[in-house]
Amino acid sequence: MARERLYLFDTTLRDGAQTNGVDFTLADKLTIARLLDELGIDYIEAGYPGANPIDTDFFSERRAMKARLTAFGMTRRPGRSASNDPGLVALLDAHADAICFVAKSWDYHVRVAIETTEEENLASIRDSVRAAKAKGREVLLDCEHFFDGYKAKPDFALACAQAAYDEGARWVVLCDTNGGTLPHEVERIVGEVCEKIPGEHIGIHAHNDTEQAVANTFAAVRSGARQIQGTLNGLGERCGNANLVSIIPTLKLKSEYADKFETGVSDEALGRLARVSHAVDELLNRAANRHAPYVGESAFATKAGIHASAIMKEPATYEHIAPERVGNRRKLLVSDQAGRSNVLAELERIGLAVDKDDPRVIRLLDEVKEREAIGYAYESADASFELLARRLLGKVPHYFEVEKFDVNVEQRNNAKGERVTVSQAVVKIKVGGQELISVAEGIGPVNALDLALRKDLGEYQSYIKGLELTDYRVRILNGGTQAVTRVLIESADETGDRWTTVGVSANIIDASFQALMDSIVYKLVKSGAPA
Ligand SMILES: [Zn+2]
Repeated sequence: MARERLYLFDTTLRDGAQTNGVDFTLADKLTIARLLDELGIDYIEAGYPGANPIDTDFFSERRAMKARLTAFGMTRRPGRSASNDPGLVALLDAHADAICFVAKSWDYHVRVAIETTEEENLASIRDSVRAAKAKGREVLLDCEHFFDGYKAKPDFALACAQAAYDEGARWVVLCDTNGGTLPHEVERIVGEVCEKIPGEHIGIHAHNDTEQAVANTFAAVRSGARQIQGTLNGLGERCGNANLVSIIPTLKLKSEYADKFETGVSDEALGRLARVSHAVDELLNRAANRHAPYVGESAFATKAGIHASAIMKEPATYEHIAPERVGNRRKLLVSDQAGRSNVLAELERIGLAVDKDDPRVIRLLDEVKEREAIGYAYESADASFELLARRLLGKVPHYFEVEKFDVNVEQRNNAKGERVTVSQAVVKIKVGGQELISVAEGIGPVNALDLALRKDLGEYQSYIKGLELTDYRVRILNGGTQAVTRVLIESADETGDRWTTVGVSANIIDASFQALMDSIVYKLVKSGAPA
């Protein structure tokens, strides 16, 4: 039997950007859009052009994606014509494949929030959809507060949805904007809407204020909705949006949905889901939720004892899915078989194939576990993992040695009498038989140290010419007096390759130094610098 297509619409970059403490740069948005595109998401809602400079920038040029890039904005303002509304004009000019309008569908909001008539609200929906269609865009209408509006005055809520559909909107999205609707209510209301508008044109946008955004999403799908809106890791204002990272594996791995529906997410992409989820956390400099369904570190962790021995024999005894399907792994505290095969797979990926019974594999695994226990994060720091593995397997030449370094931060008046803070680093290294001393000033102590380290590597200097530090992230772990600092540094080179290294120490400069050193040595290995 042919399966029905379900469409996935991600709004991490628009609704997710409303999360407290989240502030996406343009580079962050492009990175996340790429992750979503590779995952196989159908629509990426990237922002609200005209509302802020970053979103305007994002849509100022065509971004090559398989997904349909969607610009978000309001329907024309009451009492204006579509061509005379600057917000709408900016939206129509955006380089987007689709436009998602938001409009009121609760009579109470029409009266109180935008102070207009129901007729004018409907006219605004029709005019806006028509204007976007005339521009050749695919059109979606987010019916804000649809469920509350439907409970208060079903005819008006339906009329808003119907107006968009009749005017040719591809999707009418029913939004539980306040997030207070319960699954059985969603199931009933979506069912009733689908009697008027075909379900293949209905979307669901659920918020998590009763911890049921995911359940509400599935309730809507059961009643006929065929577009799912959500965000990565459930980001979103207040309690967040429906979490696509939980929804996608349920759709693909639970037979009730898997037998009936297909999505744009391949099995192979599903296998990278945990990485995508963690990449977003890293980008936001947040600790990943260990208990997140499917992708959390503890999602498939079992303590030693009878469970663990049963799991070793038959994983299905205590696991609802195979963790590898979503890129996670089983964690057992007795004998970590899964960890071992992970390490083997990783070694193979980086071209360091070793025999599976090689005792060095266990040594490497132990080393990784010990280091991760004190704060190293090798899942995020691919290059540091590779170096650790290469060192254990005896494959990292001894290029140079840092005999000592000194970093100094001084605040003083400059020649113009302005108060300035100056950082200076002095690095003494030994290359071959030669001792080299470099001095550099930087914007901060880490920048000064980085510049001094890379200033003169003697015979190796030519190999690191194209090396560039592209991102620097600091996280304080544990907190209190026990606090240690983890530094993650992302580097890039002239070939366009990017890699991440990690350092951990009680001292931020020392942690940064470790990560910088790993980055330089990684680049030398990668460039085939001679020993
Ligand atoms: Zn929302």
